[in-house]
Amino acid sequence: MASHAESSAAAVEPPKPPFPAMKLDQPGLEADLEPKPQFEGAQYRPAEKLNGKVALITGGDSGIGRSVAVLFAREGADVAINYLPEEQVDADETCRHVETAGRRCLLLPGDLTDPQVCADLVEQTVNQFGQLDVLVSNAAHQSRKPSLEEITTEEWNRTFATNVHAMFHLVKAAMPHLKRGSSIIVTSSETGLFGSEQLLDYSSTKGAINAFVKALAQNLVEQGIRVNAVAPGPVWTPLNPADPGLSPEKTAHFGEKTKFKRPAQPDEIAPAYVFFASSGDSAFITGHVLPILGGETASG
Ligand code: NAD
Ligand code: MG
Repeated sequence: MASHAESSAAAVEPPKPPFPAMKLDQPGLEADLEPKPQFEGAQYRPAEKLNGKVALITGGDSGIGRSVAVLFAREGADVAINYLPEEQVDADETCRHVETAGRRCLLLPGDLTDPQVCADLVEQTVNQFGQLDVLVSNAAHQSRKPSLEEITTEEWNRTFATNVHAMFHLVKAAMPHLKRGSSIIVTSSETGLFGSEQLLDYSSTKGAINAFVKALAQNLVEQGIRVNAVAPGPVWTPLNPADPGLSPEKTAHFGEKTKFKRPAQPDEIAPAYVFFASSGDSAFITGHVLPILGGETASG
């Protein structure tokens, strides 16, 4: 495994808005995003917390998922990542970093809104790596709309299919392979805690995720499988610059309203996933939704 000294990442002060007033096409490539998100964990010190484990991470090509893949690999896990076929260039980059950390990376393109794809992802991961220990359900669709009237039934269904139904199908497919000590981690959002004026459908999916995580955690506690969620505030990833409802001008000021006056970088969020994946760190923690909001204290 690569030591920190071998890592190419140097600690860089996270950038503050204003960013370039840019717009990406959905799903949004990290390769096209400026400034580049920080995902390598320049200040992160691995400690073999996930040695010999296997993780499947949806949305592992970019953003938070990419950073989770890289930190998991630095902790000793082999990693399978799912993404949309048009994100191949981002997935290749993630894979390069996983392999630089000395671990294996399995690339699994596919559209998660198809339940069969969810089942296949788990099967391919187990076929390749022989086991599955950590499931990270992290992919999401988000498209701001100013009013309820503008959310079509198709859009509502797509948001739920991507953010909620895929999570259900993934967990169901993963269950026969998970053992005592395994961990399920889902990416939620502050919008699932507070709501968000222009994200009625997306916020609802995140609320559903929080309830599912709490219910499933209770359901699986006897089996020794822990279930937790990470609920970030604004993070600098392709998701928002690629949201058709967020103007380039708004993108330029993304995250400005946090106490830090900037969005989080992915590698300021990803260590929470290591924490939840690692029995040595969080063996007694399940059913938790961890808000990472950059100083907002109203969440708990
Ligand atoms: P991102 O764009 O890098 O990741 C989202 C990923 O979802 C994409 O890379 C894509 O691979 C995947 N995806 C979308 N639709 C898919 C489909 N139909 N099939 C397969 N994959 C699909 O952005 P991110 O911000 O890293 O998002 C990761 C998670 O973080 C999401 O759950 C998002 O809701 C959550 N989140 C993000 C923020 C933020 O400000 N960026 C804040 C709170 C929560
Ligand atoms: Mg992506």
